[in-house]
Amino acid sequence: MSTAGTVHDFDVVIIGGGLHGCSAAYHLAQAKLKPVVLEKHVVARHASSASAGGVRRLGRDPAEIPLAVASIEMWHSMRDMLGDDGEFRATGQVRVAENAAELQKCEERAARVRALGYDHEVVIDRKELRRLVPQVAEHCVGGLHTARDGYAFPFKATTAFRLKAEELGAVVKEGTKVEAIERSGERWVVRTNHGQFRAPVLVNAAGAWGAEIARMVGDDPVEEPVALMMMVSGRMPHFLDPTVGCMGRKLSFKQMRAGTVVIGGGHVGTVDRETELTELDFRKLALSARTVSAVFPIMKDATLVRCWAGVEGFTPDDIPYIGPSKAAPNVFHSFGFCGHGFQLGPVVGSITAQLVTQGKTNLPIEPFRIDRFAGKDARVPAH
Ligand SMILES: Cc1cc2nc3c(=O)[nH]c(=O)nc-3n(C[C@H](O)[C@H](O)[C@H](O)COP(=O)(O)OP(=O)(O)OC[C@H]3O[C@@H](n4cnc5c(N)ncnc54)[C@H](O)[C@@H]3O)c2cc1C
Repeated sequence: MSTAGTVHDFDVVIIGGGLHGCSAAYHLAQAKLKPVVLEKHVVARHASSASAGGVRRLGRDPAEIPLAVASIEMWHSMRDMLGDDGEFRATGQVRVAENAAELQKCEERAARVRALGYDHEVVIDRKELRRLVPQVAEHCVGGLHTARDGYAFPFKATTAFRLKAEELGAVVKEGTKVEAIERSGERWVVRTNHGQFRAPVLVNAAGAWGAEIARMVGDDPVEEPVALMMMVSGRMPHFLDPTVGCMGRKLSFKQMRAGTVVIGGGHVGTVDRETELTELDFRKLALSARTVSAVFPIMKDATLVRCWAGVEGFTPDDIPYIGPSKAAPNVFHSFGFCGHGFQLGPVVGSITAQLVTQGKTNLPIEPFRIDRFAGKDARVPAH
């Protein structure tokens, strides 16, 4: 039966059923509003399940630090908040320095973070690095450590927000693609393949397609989809607790409780924005595998069992769009998280709910404004 002509009324229409859309739905429902999440595929179809799941304050852009610091507290109280912790494990994160110059960069970075009033990034020496990461290669000289960071299971964390939001009255519509948005009086009318959804407020959490949605309401941000690649090994004996990255190379590396090792770090494949299909670049994956073996000799004999790419929206300055539309009333954006929006998911949903219910937020979001590239020849750098 066709539902194309049906009209549904809500307090807020959220476009996108990834972590950010589901977190916004939870926080809005918690504030006693009735949101609907419109997702063209299924919840967590894109970045929010392809993600490496790193819960990382370490190495954040200064603009993101206040948000990441607020978000880590929410990760630590996730079970109380949602009844499910999304398998968050606070195993810490380490960024390895492979030589004296990189260790010097660690010192400079920690000093910069301290100057901003934060003390979560701590420089560690060779001995402490080996205590935290016993299997690290002999040549590594130290690094940076954030003790309360960790990782979670992306699909489970997203689902935990979705289920709690639904329990509180939010509605999630899967297989529902937003095709057009119009203004009618005081309300937004969102046209989809399954009828029209009306609400006074709109939240754009459409990930790598966020700019398309933004353009439907008159904003014109710069965003490009990028296919971030990941690999996972077969089960290995337990050898690693923290999530590990490198100061000088593209690497993100963690061992799950089952023993498998998940490897990422920013190598990219290709993506077709229209078909949403990705292609892996095996030469870059081979480079990634070589990096892993160089930093963790134990991985030389590991078997890789699966590779994939997930599509994420990137911006010219590598930070997301968060905040109100500049072109339209009662529209709020949160998209373009540039490969590091998983950790920010809990807090950005709460920021969006504050903006909707109070018209302001207590966290600094000015650097993320939607029109920051207006009139500039800004482009997303090649990855
Ligand atoms: C491989 C990979 C590894 C990553 N690793 C990390 C990490 O370790 N740590 C970290 O912090 N971050 C990481 N990230 C980034 C993080 O996963 C993302 O920033 C986050 O999941 C983005 O969530 P989102 O809700 O904005 O987007 P998405 O999860 O992509 O959700 C957007 C949703 O909008 C839907 N949508 C789009 N257009 C429409 C439309 N017209 N109508 C209806 N629905 C629509 C899409 O189908 C999609 O499901 C990684 C990302 C990738 C891809």
